[in-house]
Amino acid sequence: MKLFKIAVSTPVVVGLVTGVVIGVMAILIISGRTASSSERVVAYEEVVESQVVVESTIEQPLEPSELEVAPQEYDGPQFAQSMPIETKEIWLSWMQNNRDDAPAFLSDRWQLAHDFVRSNELKRPEDLRAFLLSPREYFVRSQNKGLEYADTWLPIGYGATITDPDVVAMMTSTLNINPGDKVLEIGTGSGYQSSILCYLTNKVYTIEIIKPLFAETDNLLQGLEKSNPAYGAIKRKLGDGYYGWEEYAPFDKIIVTCAVDHIPPPLLKQLSPGGIMVLPLGPPGRQYIMEVKKEVDLDGSIVLSRRDVYNGMRVSFIPFRNEAGASYSTSEPVEKPPIPAALSARQPAASSDADRED
Ligand code: SAH
Repeated sequence: MKLFKIAVSTPVVVGLVTGVVIGVMAILIISGRTASSSERVVAYEEVVESQVVVESTIEQPLEPSELEVAPQEYDGPQFAQSMPIETKEIWLSWMQNNRDDAPAFLSDRWQLAHDFVRSNELKRPEDLRAFLLSPREYFVRSQNKGLEYADTWLPIGYGATITDPDVVAMMTSTLNINPGDKVLEIGTGSGYQSSILCYLTNKVYTIEIIKPLFAETDNLLQGLEKSNPAYGAIKRKLGDGYYGWEEYAPFDKIIVTCAVDHIPPPLLKQLSPGGIMVLPLGPPGRQYIMEVKKEVDLDGSIVLSRRDVYNGMRVSFIPFRNEAGASYSTSEPVEKPPIPAALSARQPAASSDADRED
């Protein structure tokens, strides 16, 4: 039995061992191949799958919580365009339904604005709309009640003034502001000019140097913003406007509302090529309202063109001062020259124009 067993079992064992060895080797080889080839396939599939995931994420609508929406900027120019101005009656009824402005002043505002349309100081419908939306009655300070729509400059305290409404109209129209233009104003003062600007573009930047006046007007604009959401677009800063506002430069348009006898170089630098600056230019006491256009030649040189927008009429704005209170102008104050008798007899308006202050 035993022998048989051995005799029988020896070749069987050898065969079994050989079979096992071959089998293990085969399994190792096959499994090795399978493992490596399946790894490659999985890796490739993962890549494909991850692309599908990315694509399907893009296609899936985002949950509101996933959207980071910047607060929508109120569009002053668009609002101004929606205002009907065909006739005084249509405008009045729209204003009474859509605005909080005191009704008592609306007729005066319409009248004054149309005076400036006739005198060609308000040149474009956009400028007329911006003027019609700006409640001058809130910017004229309380000591001047009754003069809200008088065509004159008025003191607003701290030695500053709110500019004549017709000069505001003319300077604004000269800038030819389009929606989206970046506009810098030097001399926030009462805030009235800023109000007009924000109905022409929602990028208004304004600088005031007198601290309590800055605070007073900032407060006023904040209060009015509830009923005039466009004021939210007026970015304000306390500082010396001679150096402009580098952080937001360049500006498409710059309006200077204090008097200086030269164009401040930093402001010229911060004006975009193709941009327009309007400023009261001249010695203390008597300036011309100048439009300055900046172009850059192909060789990089800057070309300026200047135009006196009032054809010789002089105004007197309050001085452009530094933080120590000294005027940036170096010219001597100019005394009002006597008006030749013949001229003053022919053009009585010229004598009052020469006296203007803003
Ligand atoms: N735009 C104003 C006009 C204000 S009068 C309005 O609509 O009411 C001119 C203003 O220029 C004054 O408030 C005066 O304080 C300011 N001002 C003078 N020098 C300045 C400077 N260096 N920087 C900024 N504002 C200045």
